[in-house]
Formats: sequence, structure tokens, C-alpha cells
Amino acid sequence: MVESLSDHGHSHDHHDHEHGHDGALCRHARERAAEAGEALARAEAICRERRQRLTPMRRAVLGALYDTHKPVGAYEIIDILGPQEGKTLAPITIYRALDFLIAQGFVHRLASRNAFIACPHGHGPEDLVAFLICDACGGVDERCAPPLSRALVQMLQAEQFKPRHPVLEISGLCGHCSEKHGDA
Ligand SMILES: [Zn+2]
Ligand SMILES: [Zn+2]
Ligand SMILES: [Zn+2]
Repeated sequence: MVESLSDHGHSHDHHDHEHGHDGALCRHARERAAEAGEALARAEAICRERRQRLTPMRRAVLGALYDTHKPVGAYEIIDILGPQEGKTLAPITIYRALDFLIAQGFVHRLASRNAFIACPHGHGPEDLVAFLICDACGGVDERCAPPLSRALVQMLQAEQFKPRHPVLEISGLCGHCSEKHGDA
């Protein structure tokens, strides 16, 4: 349902974005850059609707996560935002902002990396999501798989287990990188 929001990578008007060291942006970076503005505006609208405050710090943290296609740790966020804010930020400040963003469903925590990634999908907290984490380019694809979700829900119900955040993290090589490495 989210797929239709973006036209898939056929635009040639993104030359102004920062380029990677190899001179080209990977697909993850292009997708993230394309969705950032809309996703931030949507987060603001959702907060207004829920009567939650997207404070300048919370917005800055979310913005920092949308500036990259890679999962980012709390201390990296401090390094990014500190110069912008003109002061040293305490980790607790960043963690509080992240807690809020996670609770609102704007951000996920990747346990395997102890890092955070923005989520533009607006799904419920109980939905199973799968993260496909590329070891080569660092990009992360988040996918919902309804059949997988249903199987998991059945299994959890049989166990009478209440999941808090059902998340699947799979590391490996993304399609683009495995093509590049010639072992597709
Ligand atoms: Zn998500
Ligand atoms: Zn990759
Ligand atoms: Zn990539």
C-alpha cells in the first residue's frame, strides 16, 4: 500500500543530493531522500492529530534519521545535531526524543545494531516488520509480509505470548549490491 507513493527510481533530477564516496547514490539513499520531506510533514500532522508535541528536538532527531539511509546510533545523532544546535547534547536528550518517536511509530530500533531507522510506513505497533539490512551499502529495507504476520500471530496466540515489538532483522547483501559484487 505504500509502494504506490513513490515512482520507482526513474527520476533523473536528484543530482543535487550528496554523493557517496564512489560517486553514486545507492537505491536506498535515493529512496530515503525522496520520501524525507513528505514523511516529516506527515509526522507533524499525525502529532497534531494525536495532540502530541513534535518539539524542535524530536523533529531534529527524526530529520537526522531521514538524512541517511543507514541505521544511526544515538551517539552518531549527537555528532550530527550537536554542531547544528551549537551545543553538546546529552545522550538522555536524544534517547528521550527517540523514545517518543518510537512510541509514535516514526522510528524503529534495530536491536542487532543498537541503532535507529526512520519508518515512513505508518503501520501499527503490532504489525510484524522485516528489516533487510545490507552489509555492503548499509541500506535497510523495511518490508511487511502479511502471510508471515499471520503465521506469527497464530504461533504467538498458541503460546499466549504478547509481543511488544515483533521485528525480524535479516542481514546480508541487497539485490543491488549482490549484482555489483557479481554473485547474484
Ligand atoms: Zn515500520
Ligand atoms: Zn546494498
Ligand atoms: Zn543501498
